[in-house]
Amino acid sequence: MVSYQNQAEQFNRYLSEKAGLSTLRFVTCGSVDDGKSTLIGRILYEANMILGDRLASLKNDSIKSGTQGDNIDFALAVDGLSAEREQGITIDVAYCYFSTERRNFIVADAPGHEQYTRNMVTGASNAELAVILIDAQKGLLEQTRRHSIICSTLGIKNIVLAVNKMDLVGYNKEVFDKIRASFCEFAEELIFETITAIPMSGLIGNNISQKSAETEWYQGPTLLSYLESVDTSSDRSKKPFRMPVQWVNRPNSEFRGFSGTITSGYIKTGQKVNILPSGETANIKEILLFKESLPEAAANQAVTITLNREVDVSRGDVIVDADSPTDVSDQFEIELVWMEKEVGYSGRSYLLKIGSVLAKAEITKIKHKINISTFEKLAATRLEQNDLSVINIKLDRNIPFEKFLDCSNLGGLILIDRITNQTVAAGMIKFPLRRSKSIFFHKLDIDKSARNVLNGHKSKIFWLTGLSGSGKSTIANALEKELHAQGIRTYILDGDNVRHGLNQDLGFTNEDRVENIRRVSEVAKLMVDAGIVVITAFISPFKAERELARALFEEEEFLEVFIDVPLEVAESRDPKGLYKKARDGGLSNFTGISSAYERPENPEIHIDTAQQDVASSVKLVLDKVSF
Ligand code: ADP
Repeated sequence: MVSYQNQAEQFNRYLSEKAGLSTLRFVTCGSVDDGKSTLIGRILYEANMILGDRLASLKNDSIKSGTQGDNIDFALAVDGLSAEREQGITIDVAYCYFSTERRNFIVADAPGHEQYTRNMVTGASNAELAVILIDAQKGLLEQTRRHSIICSTLGIKNIVLAVNKMDLVGYNKEVFDKIRASFCEFAEELIFETITAIPMSGLIGNNISQKSAETEWYQGPTLLSYLESVDTSSDRSKKPFRMPVQWVNRPNSEFRGFSGTITSGYIKTGQKVNILPSGETANIKEILLFKESLPEAAANQAVTITLNREVDVSRGDVIVDADSPTDVSDQFEIELVWMEKEVGYSGRSYLLKIGSVLAKAEITKIKHKINISTFEKLAATRLEQNDLSVINIKLDRNIPFEKFLDCSNLGGLILIDRITNQTVAAGMIKFPLRRSKSIFFHKLDIDKSARNVLNGHKSKIFWLTGLSGSGKSTIANALEKELHAQGIRTYILDGDNVRHGLNQDLGFTNEDRVENIRRVSEVAKLMVDAGIVVITAFISPFKAERELARALFEEEEFLEVFIDVPLEVAESRDPKGLYKKARDGGLSNFTGISSAYERPENPEIHIDTAQQDVASSVKLVLDKVSF
């Protein structure tokens, strides 16, 4: 039997056999060559998880790979995991599972390379404890700091500082003490509740399950005995009741239950609860675990709740203790680790996910980044891979939340790219920005539809995008003339009238382009609200910005018009001499030459101006719309 697996399915079977034991999920992190695979292999071996045939073949392989004497190359025991990783299979983090007499364990092994920060986040996101590996010869590295910050950002409160390769420093107590002290000093700024430093050697097997005679000066537990006994439940059950609704369970017209895992606190039947963000109140009628009815339930239990009255509850809502509800807000200051290669800017929009809550989010301000060694604040205008930064964010609606320090489940978040669906950042809510409560819209009697009736046509926006020289201004001008002749109220927003006034403070860096488009979109939205047909003519090279603009409008209002032309054609036209200037090096960040243009994938209207003349381009647009 091979007792470690990397398939969740087999593990589930394995776990159910071991039912009754608690399960500890932990993540191992360290730099390349810290000896992580060897350590995991060693743990599996000492927990008697590598048995019979597997052990024999491991011994054989170890001899073949040149390992000395009786020693086993434990790194080979986790080779299956490495191979999977090398093939670039979608599972970025390899999990392995083992158990001892006292506990079941799920280990997420996060690769150490810098570019694997994302994987580290995936592995750590549901871990209760992190084993941070340090090579005793090297001490604290940049990676150690980065991984520790990520663990802290993801709400891991318990850390094992595994000071490995002690054999290579002669089991020297001073080396160990120094590493422990410098880590503790560094971690003062983080949220860890326990830091347990253990001197060890994964290769030799010191202080893994057996106390080592070489480290008599060390009085603490071995790694395995610590992992078996550590209590990570902290005091979640003493906190007020919170349960995010994962799904609404409605098997028939009579039954309507709300299912989820209780993240903190305790409930009993009859208790009064609030549904957030709506704020509606009800009493708990029944608490169900499968088909069994329970009088009460506590943190970590996955239950279905029914209420004593009809209340509108949907996935992503949070059911909370009515006497101690959470706050609700739509603007936050958050601290985050940016994981994506593609840089993030103020003005960009993403999806924000906290538990099962999903909302559209716009970065409204990048406040500063943080030097991970000194925690010093550094000026920043962009979010780069591996940066730890503080930003402001605005959501499209109110969500229930808690400050991360109070509750990692309702305060820990990820940002997701709306186009690629990739997780781009992991972060935590520092505090809500109360502005959301003080800015509210007056309901006015004369609104957009009243203005549209008066004008005799609907207001809309034609968002023209394309390379410089593709013909945006030319077509915008001809289109406006035609619409004007038909009695339609129009306005063109283009680089000239915007950059000379409203946006005169902006240049052409990526950050400024994003801000340029954000302001243009907001102005266009006001104009559409005022009843006008707006035509914009901006290169708008990034998909994310065009999506941001689109998101401000109603579905029928926004028409993306892709003015397409091969780069050579645009360059040969060069109406403003800009291509020549860019080729001569006089213009940096010029779209098509030194900056990318991301082609629209599904524009409402697609015009190739190398094939269509101006008049037929205008006709193409008008054929597609009705006012
Ligand atoms: P943009 O606003 O996209 O930078 P402009 O409209 O300022 O581009 O410039 C486009 C140039 O190409 C103009 O000189 C225009 O006369 C010329 N042109 C040639 N064929 C076309 C066409 N089919 N559609 C639009 N412009 C064209």
